[in-house]
Amino acid sequence: MNNIVVQKFGGTSVRNLECMRQVLNNVRRPLANGDKVIVVLSAMAGETNRLIALSRQWSQTPDLAEMDSLVSTGEQISVALFAMMAKDEGVKCRSVLGFQIPIETDASHGKARIESIDDEKLRKMLETYDVLVVAGFQGVDAGGRISTLGRGGSDTSAVAVAAALHAEMCEIYTDVPGVFTTDPNICAEARKLDRIAYDEMLEMASMGAKVLQIRSVEFAKKYNVKVHVRSTFSDEPGTIVTQEDEIMEAVQVSGVAYDKDQAQVTLVGVIDEPGVCASIFVPIADKQILVDMIVQNPSREGRTDITFTVTRADLDATLKLMEGLKNEIGYKALLSDKSVAKVSVIGVGMRNHSGVASKAFRAMHDENINILMISTSEIKLSCLIEDKYTELAVRTLHQAFIG
Ligand code: ADP
Ligand code: ASP
Ligand code: MG
Repeated sequence: MNNIVVQKFGGTSVRNLECMRQVLNNVRRPLANGDKVIVVLSAMAGETNRLIALSRQWSQTPDLAEMDSLVSTGEQISVALFAMMAKDEGVKCRSVLGFQIPIETDASHGKARIESIDDEKLRKMLETYDVLVVAGFQGVDAGGRISTLGRGGSDTSAVAVAAALHAEMCEIYTDVPGVFTTDPNICAEARKLDRIAYDEMLEMASMGAKVLQIRSVEFAKKYNVKVHVRSTFSDEPGTIVTQEDEIMEAVQVSGVAYDKDQAQVTLVGVIDEPGVCASIFVPIADKQILVDMIVQNPSREGRTDITFTVTRADLDATLKLMEGLKNEIGYKALLSDKSVAKVSVIGVGMRNHSGVASKAFRAMHDENINILMISTSEIKLSCLIEDKYTELAVRTLHQAFIG
């Protein structure tokens, strides 16, 4: 059997016919080696957002399974258009939708998790075709309904297909030449990394670097698939995401990330007694709302303030829930703020270096940026700030740690 190469192309790479021709040039490289190619495509740039906006004209609280039926059409369009173009160019190919493989997921519509992929079916189809053009982002649940994997989910489709086929490498083609020390679109000094460890990439992605969806990195790490992030529009090698022991450079901080999708909630004057945190956070978790940072102030006269963050999309639901539990929790006032953002410095080198926090705080202070909340892990330090300072904070931290 021929070698199988998995390549994924993002929305900007398939935004028009000219770009799709560029995609085909990249597909031709492994084909010329005699390899078979699985091409995973995203929807054309802007299409998923357009469909989400369209749904809002019909419903403010759309049924999640119907939403998945709707937004998955973006990828159906791009795979069909690409396959017809490639066929005209003499490539033996066909498009394949998630349910046709199938890519089976759980039933959590809008953020479904892949449970299994029929790799035998893919191999069988590759006996007939040289290229399979697979719709990213979508799958099918046990009840036969279309599901989607969350924003940026085509990355996860591609890595999962690569894992299912035991491919050693999954190529992720995008609009930047690789993974950078920070978003190259907001910091001119950002440097391309030749390699990055799975754990660092996981933190970068969780802290907002949308170049790879978090779950794609989790899959890659679990199944030991190397990921090559590179540009659709250049032959230059990009960044290899791989195991830590294969990384040469030992630096303190390898990246700076930011996330504007943050909102802050404060419960003022909560009665400070055992069980109070559970009375707040258990009902939130039961609603599948993810809480990120949490700060509890020292209590004064038996009362304390508790502040936490959620995504902006989850803010209204969180406030409604807290209002409903006012008597049970026993707080005096409920405050919220949507104009906050999180900036983070990330690096496996932080395990063996001290002084990262003090350096970060000094850099922020030099620019007069107030820090609202702080959270740390072994390989990451995050600060919540006013969102209007995001770009400045990213450049300042980048300058302080990376240069
Ligand atoms: P695609 O449509 O190809 O999936 P995305 O827009 O999802 O592309 O991801 C690529 C974008 O990620 C880049 O254009 C860049 O603005 C952003 N990005 C954020 N952080 C980083 C980073 N550290 N390195 C590279 N790109 C980053
Ligand atoms: N089209 C989907 C999105 O915009 C999935 C993807 O592009 O990866 O989020
Ligand atoms: Mg993406």
